[in-house]
Amino acid sequence: MGETSAYERFCAIVDAASAVAGIEDPGVLEAIKRPERVHEVSIPLARDDGRREMLTGYRVQHSSARGPYKGGIRYHPNVTLDEVKALAGWMSIKTAVVDIPLGGGKGGITVDPHKLSVTELEALTRAYTERIWRVIGPMVDVPAPDVNTDSRVMDWLEDEYARLSGHDAPAVVTGKTIEHGGSLGRDTATAQGGIDVLEAALAAAGENLRGKKVAIQGFGNAGSNAAILLQQAGATIVCVSDSTAAIRKAGGLPVGELVEFKHKGGRFADLKDYEKLGTEAPLFEPVDIVVPAALEGQITAHNAEQVKARWVVELANGPTTPEADAILAGRGVKVLPDILANAGGVVVSYFEWVQDLHSERWMLEEVQARLAVTMRRAFDAVTEIATRKNVTLRLAAYAVAMRRIADAIGIAQPLPQAKVRQPGL
Ligand code: NAD
Repeated sequence: MGETSAYERFCAIVDAASAVAGIEDPGVLEAIKRPERVHEVSIPLARDDGRREMLTGYRVQHSSARGPYKGGIRYHPNVTLDEVKALAGWMSIKTAVVDIPLGGGKGGITVDPHKLSVTELEALTRAYTERIWRVIGPMVDVPAPDVNTDSRVMDWLEDEYARLSGHDAPAVVTGKTIEHGGSLGRDTATAQGGIDVLEAALAAAGENLRGKKVAIQGFGNAGSNAAILLQQAGATIVCVSDSTAAIRKAGGLPVGELVEFKHKGGRFADLKDYEKLGTEAPLFEPVDIVVPAALEGQITAHNAEQVKARWVVELANGPTTPEADAILAGRGVKVLPDILANAGGVVVSYFEWVQDLHSERWMLEEVQARLAVTMRRAFDAVTEIATRKNVTLRLAAYAVAMRRIADAIGIAQPLPQAKVRQPGL
């Protein structure tokens, strides 16, 4: 697992799902795997002390077969072209699973943003935008936040794009602040979409969330909102972790208090009156539902046997390794895969894009209702394939997405030579 790159892992699962998707043409399979376009840029960064540094950034445009490229921008020291290519591919799959008319892309800068001042972060974002603005646009490629980028960064990107292109175009980027054209409901969208899928899966098994015990790894945007929403739906949150520690309370944790504590910058390791455990503890608690909402590669071949829950809801991207996936499937643990379970974020990003293109403002209730319908449809399509082909929900989700992309690629192919009309004929 350590030796395979992220992009190799992306290609491996696409290969694995090809038979389920009924894609036999190696050319079509290759088109699904390979990015249409890769941009590598050198970004001049003016430091506050007057020094000038050159950083490297990327924008990978993976697939436009189903619509404009869509995907976040990541600021992280470990960003590599290989990783951005994989993440872009996963975006193409994700937008196709939930059947929104967008393709997949991803961007990134190899940088540790925590070492930059706010002025430097803004300068970096504007310099990166200057390098890529000619290849993005509301109908071409629509970035969004990802690791270490937020609504403020998206506002800067939008502003710089408007300055360079000479016209306001809020739909060039999503995940903006509400004041700059962001959508209501975007902050809770990933958690809400995951719970919509979970409720559908439980209902199909004749169950519901009432009285279910839940443990959550990660208490940021995805994890803390999931805790709030799951508790509202009648579940009990018994164990949560951040990057410093896990805390546990059999009768149920005070979710509201913990959210406030984290908003003030608190660390679970500093909380008094709680039993402290390792950060991975929530994954192995004796609960009904485990929600990985932190990092990738958390459930592995080494620890998959210790997972006691019957349901795993992957709000994080790639929290389960392929080896662990097979072990969990063998033990009858139902995994709601990331490309379906955490797609709520990109769905509401799509709603933001539509609202900005049409100068509309949707009410929160409208956003949530449309999200629920979109997630439910995606779940039904994936479940139908999983049942009919007797495969995991993950493989079925890839197959559904790949079939849709393959069908779109088919339309985009040029006409055979004989049918092309010659000028003057
Ligand atoms: P975030 O930065 O808001 O929160 C991450 C949380 O994980 C923090 O509480 C952090 O303390 C915790 N954490 C970090 N390392 C940990 C460790 N070793 N053990 C336990 N906890 C740890 O990030 P987020 O936006 O909530 O994203 C979390 C995951 O969900 C990522 O994999 C991300 O790609 C995925 N995701 C998020 C969204 C979204 O809209 N936010 C959408 C799709 C996927």
